[in-house]
Amino acid sequence: MAGRRDFDLIVRGAGPAGAAAAMTAAKLGLRVALVDRKRFPRDKLCGGGLTGRAMAHHRRIFGTDRPDVPLEVRREFAFHAFGQDLGMTRDAPPIHLAMRRELDHHLVDRALAAGAVDVTGHALDLDLGDPAGPVLFNQTMRLTAPLLIAADGVNSPTANALFGQAFDRDRIGFALEIEHLGADPARPLRIDFGAAEWGYGWQFPKTTGTTVGVGGIMARNPDLKAAMKAYMARLAIPEGARVKGQFLPFGDFRKRPGQGRVLLAGDAAGLVDPITGEGIAHALHSGELAAQTAAQAIREAHPEAALGRYTTALRPIHSGLTMARLLRTIMFRRALRPAFIRSFRESRSLREEYLRLLAGETDYAPLMRKTAMRMPGFAARALFGR
Ligand SMILES: Cc1cc2nc3c(=O)[nH]c(=O)nc-3n(C[C@H](O)[C@H](O)[C@H](O)COP(=O)(O)OP(=O)(O)OC[C@H]3O[C@@H](n4cnc5c(N)ncnc54)[C@H](O)[C@@H]3O)c2cc1C
Repeated sequence: MAGRRDFDLIVRGAGPAGAAAAMTAAKLGLRVALVDRKRFPRDKLCGGGLTGRAMAHHRRIFGTDRPDVPLEVRREFAFHAFGQDLGMTRDAPPIHLAMRRELDHHLVDRALAAGAVDVTGHALDLDLGDPAGPVLFNQTMRLTAPLLIAADGVNSPTANALFGQAFDRDRIGFALEIEHLGADPARPLRIDFGAAEWGYGWQFPKTTGTTVGVGGIMARNPDLKAAMKAYMARLAIPEGARVKGQFLPFGDFRKRPGQGRVLLAGDAAGLVDPITGEGIAHALHSGELAAQTAAQAIREAHPEAALGRYTTALRPIHSGLTMARLLRTIMFRRALRPAFIRSFRESRSLREEYLRLLAGETDYAPLMRKTAMRMPGFAARALFGR
């Protein structure tokens, strides 16, 4: 058949999850196609904040200390919650801040240099009816493989084809963001819990400007534009820059991350932290895990085994997201806000625990314990069932 190309693995979507999957598969010796409907560099709405956790995954998967793109590095954080100043934390583990246009292009280049075949810049349809495995095709090419990793983002057309919808509209998050141009080293990296309902706001300084945004559960934010306007006014950011919006799968992950011979990774599997909004780390890690489990199943000539193994491999990420969701219900419940604000402002160790979480040095369990200890008894019971 004209244009038919057979692979061991197809990766659909070349953001951080897809690039990590393709890189891992190529390193494991698989013939892997990296497909994206866009040609890179392409824009992606994102704060571009790389936590220590994301940097560690990057280092392991791509083999270099830091991505070779312009990075702003910050160790000082200004925390605010529900309009109140919670203080500045200095000497925190560093957060690296990148523009996604540059970061994603770089990661794709690394995966291609490792041997992945470049199929970016092509819009391909999915055919799940072929018994030999998933097929991506258009009028001129037909890509086949026993397994497909779908890393095609929050609006995942693959998840939509498998489950009838890419996400649950009642639980999805939504975020608005602007790029304020002109580097301003005096602007701190700042996080405002509650700048949106059941969500937060962020001011992320970059080498070329500042990214400012708000995001929260969509169903609880009927007027997110007003929240964005108020937040920009609070930060003294002039209006005028184009406000862009995107869905954010705020902790609403898929318990079964795929179906048959299709594995979902990154946003397509809903792997975004419901408190921090962080998704790049889980995207990189899940892409890696998907490729590793796919490689094992292909070696054993048993592609159907990949999904079960991948689901098991994702368990630690799923349990972290479940805990974070529980903690979020405590943080954002109106009756508990004063206790949360007081705890976070007065407890240096709670703030440090949160920063250690962002740095990837700990997980949610110790943070939940510390938070519960400082909250009223009924909140502790809600967190730990005691
Ligand atoms: C406003 C905002 C701010 C954020 N800030 C941060 C932050 O500071 N730090 C952080 O860690 N996370 C942040 N996130 C979350 C983060 O952006 C995502 O979790 C992350 O991009 C997920 O990576 P991914 O590879 O799964 O998907 P994406 O990065 O979305 O990549 C998906 C890719 O799939 C491609 N694609 C889509 N459809 C098709 C198709 N039919 N065929 C082929 N390819 C297709 C797209 O072109 C795209 O390249 C933010 C999100 C938003 C919305």
